[in-house]
Amino acid sequence: MKNASLKRQIYPQPKSYGPSVRGMLMSCLIFLVWSCGSTVKKTPSTQPGTTPSTTPAASTTEPQIRACLIDNVTRSGLSFDGNYVLVLEEAQYRFDSSIGTLSVFRSGKNLVFRNDRRYLDIAPDQLIVFRPLTKNSEFTLDNVSYRGELSFVFDGDQVLAVNELGLERYLQGVVPFEIPTHQKGYTEAAFAQAVAARTYAMHRLANPVNAGVYDIRADTRDQVYRGVQRLTDLAQRAVNSTRGMILTERGQPSPTYYHSTCGGILESDAMLPGSAVPATAAVAHDLDKDEYNCRVSPFYRWVEFRDAETILVNLQREFDIDSLRVEGWMNDGFTMSIEVLDRKPSSRAKTVRFRVEEQSFLADGSRIRRSLADERGKLLPSDLFFINLSPENPDKFYIVGAGNGHGRGMCQWGAIGMSLAGRQYQSILGFYYPDLTLAQMY
Ligand SMILES: [Zn+2]
Repeated sequence: MKNASLKRQIYPQPKSYGPSVRGMLMSCLIFLVWSCGSTVKKTPSTQPGTTPSTTPAASTTEPQIRACLIDNVTRSGLSFDGNYVLVLEEAQYRFDSSIGTLSVFRSGKNLVFRNDRRYLDIAPDQLIVFRPLTKNSEFTLDNVSYRGELSFVFDGDQVLAVNELGLERYLQGVVPFEIPTHQKGYTEAAFAQAVAARTYAMHRLANPVNAGVYDIRADTRDQVYRGVQRLTDLAQRAVNSTRGMILTERGQPSPTYYHSTCGGILESDAMLPGSAVPATAAVAHDLDKDEYNCRVSPFYRWVEFRDAETILVNLQREFDIDSLRVEGWMNDGFTMSIEVLDRKPSSRAKTVRFRVEEQSFLADGSRIRRSLADERGKLLPSDLFFINLSPENPDKFYIVGAGNGHGRGMCQWGAIGMSLAGRQYQSILGFYYPDLTLAQMY
């Protein structure tokens, strides 16, 4: 009976599903769905251990944004192209390409900048701000080049590297890393991405991650920002042509989530895992509507294999399992079973139970994808999956899934599919954020 109800959850509107999605998922499910869980019996190993708050009113000028590039500086390389100045209490220092690469590292509580031409040992009570003297001056931190100002900020025991620059310039370093911008047919998707990324950034300006220190993180915890490394003509055009344009809800910037590939089924939950911000923008989609759009994605459907040792190592980290116990299991052999206990309305896994011998571990939220990461630590692409034993190789778990990312808001590959089909970016945004309004903020 449980299996029947699972099928109903996956196909809430069966008549509207196209044959190929149904065919693919159904063929995967037919033999998977009848098993409530999967069990691997490991033989003893001969080699032990081997294995929403207030938002500001619209402004009329382009805002500045502070992006955290490194949240714990230990040892970095820093160089300059163009002219920069660092003003300290005792003196003012100029930096340009002739300085070469400086090592940046901690020495006790201080931060040191050193090479054969410069040596600065700076105490935590000082402001460390490298200011550009010309518009196109760049600095390079750990082999990535950026424009704008660079600060090193003492925050508790850690030192953060923060880049401050105009929002539009910031977006030039986001769009090409968040969506492919090398093909002509992707134009409208890149435009939609520029608006979504600008909106998300404006939302962060109103709800900074670390108020007073920085607004936004430069990685997938917010959105990927990698400076001027990959600025394509299309990315530049997408940012310039949509300058100042964002999506609003009652006149305020909305938290526009987006993700790589929904796999044909957008997530309809109202909360993003780990977030205190309701993803109001992401609700109220018909579950079948993105089916054709993101079929162009390499993650539309996927199959992954995992061995029990890899999962056990993940579980040890996620659930802080005693290492002696894990070693014992690895040496003596162990039985592992994995069961998806319940699913969200989009059929994404909500709770997964891992059983190792007599012990159970319940994973939910982002812990599911981390617990099922591969041996190199790459996360399972999405929570939209089914798991069983591998038919060919019963030593391994066999995971059939769809999509990449959390499934909320805009599906980026879906936007590409719509762009290739000739839709305009306004229509793409309207499809993924039906409750939001396009507005010119500056
Ligand atoms: Zn999609």
